[in-house]
Amino acid sequence: MQLTPQHLKSLATPQSYERGEAIPVEKLVKRGEVYEGELLGTYRYRQTVDLRSEKLVATCSCPYEGTGICKHIVAVGLAIIKEAFTEMEELEEASETASFESIKEIREGIRPRIQAITLDPNTSDAGFGLDAAYADAMREKCERELQQAIAPYGERMKARLQKGQVFDAFKLLLGMYEGQVNLDGPAYVGYHILFDFYQVKEDVCDPYVEAFLSAVNESSLSFPVKRQMIELLFERWRRYEGKYQNREEEIRYDLEEYVEILLALLTDGVIAHFLKTRLGGYALYGEPFTVLHKRIAEFE
Ligand SMILES: [Zn+2]
Repeated sequence: MQLTPQHLKSLATPQSYERGEAIPVEKLVKRGEVYEGELLGTYRYRQTVDLRSEKLVATCSCPYEGTGICKHIVAVGLAIIKEAFTEMEELEEASETASFESIKEIREGIRPRIQAITLDPNTSDAGFGLDAAYADAMREKCERELQQAIAPYGERMKARLQKGQVFDAFKLLLGMYEGQVNLDGPAYVGYHILFDFYQVKEDVCDPYVEAFLSAVNESSLSFPVKRQMIELLFERWRRYEGKYQNREEEIRYDLEEYVEILLALLTDGVIAHFLKTRLGGYALYGEPFTVLHKRIAEFE
């Protein structure tokens, strides 16, 4: 059967439908006419939606016992309609590159590699800012190893962009961000005198952010995809905001780093209105958000 928003609406209560519209689907795999979804609600829930017959057959692992289909099935149904899935053949072809890791898996693939970066331990006294050649060599070593940790995910992200799978690419970008943000430099006390580790991180990560930005600017993303990206970003941010206590294993989202991406998504009044309600809902006014509010106002 061909799924439509009207059909989903007829199967769900208005509340379930409305809530489902706002839930980002983290994973959606298509095997023929059977779809398998995964998303994060109160817990992680899995859905199957079977479109092989003329009747929608769907299950969800959540405990919903109300009328009609649950909001998670609505979310997955809407994702199917906008074709935000990966086909199984593609997934198998890309099994080497594990196209559908969670953001956490991406992050945890990166962090240990960054934490393992070591500088030359035998010369720990040699580099106190005096020997420029030594400092350069250590910086290069650090940059190389950081690049090696980030690049596999960055290249995967670029491959997603080439296939037009911008939401998947965004998840990779978020995973790469979480993998490196709030991590201090190499395990060697003197490194910060040799070079600026944060600058090295920026040098390594920026090209991927640029690649993502130009893909967003070149593609005309649908409203649901843009909304899904914005929801996911705020979902990640809120997950860590408030719990952050400056411990190394923790992650703090600096939303300022995402202002440019949000700007790139602000291409019409519909998404402007949506972003406005989100920013307002979290009381995100003032810097660095003024540029967003200014752009939003241009659509009003
Ligand atoms: Zn459910």
